[in-house]
Amino acid sequence: MENLDLYEILGVTKNSTDAEIKKNYRKLAKEFHPDKNPNAGDKFKEISFAYEVLSDPEKRKVYDRHGIKGLQEGADGFSDAGEFFAQWFPFSNLGGHSREGRGKVGQIVIKLEVSLEEIYNGNVAKTIEYKRTSFCSECHGDGGPKEAQQKCTQCNGVGRMASYAFMGLTAVETICSVCHGRGNVIAENLQCGTCHGNGLVEELAKREITVEKGAPHMLKIPFPSEGHQGLQGSRGDLIVVLIQTEHTLFQRRHNDLIMRNIHVNLTQALCGFVHCFKHLDGRQICVATRPGEVIRHEELKMIPGEGMPLRNNPFDRGDLLIHFMVDFPENGFATSEQLEMLETLLPPREPFTMPEEAEEVLLVDVQPRTEDSRGAHGGGHEDDDEFDGNTHFERVQCQTG
Ligand SMILES: [Zn+2]
Ligand SMILES: [Zn+2]
Repeated sequence: MENLDLYEILGVTKNSTDAEIKKNYRKLAKEFHPDKNPNAGDKFKEISFAYEVLSDPEKRKVYDRHGIKGLQEGADGFSDAGEFFAQWFPFSNLGGHSREGRGKVGQIVIKLEVSLEEIYNGNVAKTIEYKRTSFCSECHGDGGPKEAQQKCTQCNGVGRMASYAFMGLTAVETICSVCHGRGNVIAENLQCGTCHGNGLVEELAKREITVEKGAPHMLKIPFPSEGHQGLQGSRGDLIVVLIQTEHTLFQRRHNDLIMRNIHVNLTQALCGFVHCFKHLDGRQICVATRPGEVIRHEELKMIPGEGMPLRNNPFDRGDLLIHFMVDFPENGFATSEQLEMLETLLPPREPFTMPEEAEEVLLVDVQPRTEDSRGAHGGGHEDDDEFDGNTHFERVQCQTG
């Protein structure tokens, strides 16, 4: 019955305009609305479905060329096929080509927090506890005693039904909503007390996970058939997602580690230093500068091979980057004589001559400006154009200050 005609359902032709289609749809929808016409069965759904397809230029084009199957399978790049069908056939897992959707039935996703130390060292066993549905052990999933089972009248004991027969596609079947696919129902007074006739109960499950060395953040670890048990078929999958927690000292960038904001003072930056830290495996590591090596402010240095172990080759490791901040001494840290002495050691100044009749001025510190002080010099939005550079600068200052 693939040839069933959506145009015919709405009483229009292939050449009808959008307006004609809309007009007929309104008329029929009124006539067959379940409130008015409860015995019309699927007629109202049929009309609604036909209208949804024919009122949408993209869907209409696909239907004209490939029929219902084209809509179901996403012909001509009809991208919403899965979603579109899921909406009309919520119990069907035949939504177009959406195989992914199929796999998600009964799926459970659990986030597992792991520390950077755990990922660095690997082979850490973690146990998660989670809730999942399982067959009721009391009634073995039947929902009640076998002898109390009565054939489901809705699906005639099949468990599945072509609920939208007008589609004419045998493939479009849905699980019976009355017996949930069992094909039989149990009278209320005989239902299993443990699961209240559901056949399924919620249970607590445990799963041990071994965190692999070098596992990436957001790694998805699948455990097939450890998710929810459905009344139909097999269990869904359990997916454990590793969430790497933040570390106080190290940041991870793929296989590399970064230590940020390591402060050294000017003397250390110029004359050398040793900096020690505790690595993720507990080793105490001390880095020393070579004699004469100068560390610049905001400079990035590297210790090769002290980064994260590679996931597939744990004997290989990324690098460790160190980001240095150089702290300068306070004002007035030395007398004039001391500064003269210091100057003899430092690289010579650029040659300089004071231009004639130059105005000599002093520098003062810049204070972060508050909203109040902005207002004090007649601030407000009118000024923004005139002092564009200034106001922009102030905003930046306020955020960091
Ligand atoms: Zn039960
Ligand atoms: Zn049924």
